[in-house]
Amino acid sequence: MSAGMTCQDAIALLLEYLETTLDDATVAQLEAHLTDCAPCRAYLATYRRAVGAAATAERVEMPPEMRERLASFIAQRLRGRSGQA
Ligand SMILES: [Zn+2]
Repeated sequence: MSAGMTCQDAIALLLEYLETTLDDATVAQLEAHLTDCAPCRAYLATYRRAVGAAATAERVEMPPEMRERLASFIAQRLRGRSGQA
């Protein structure tokens, strides 16, 4: 019995999958493969992070002031987390 998709197929489709340009049938096949295939799931997770980071970097044209506020917000949260027991 073949699921119809190899790891190579799955990986080739991941970008389109993340951009949600695949048709439903292909998505279903890909997701079936991902369910059974831990290496492809790991690959997808890595891929998603990379794509997400790239998308964020492209979209973010934050003024420096806002970036600073965001940085201090994050720093504050991190501090709070380790500070509160
Ligand atoms: Zn696979």
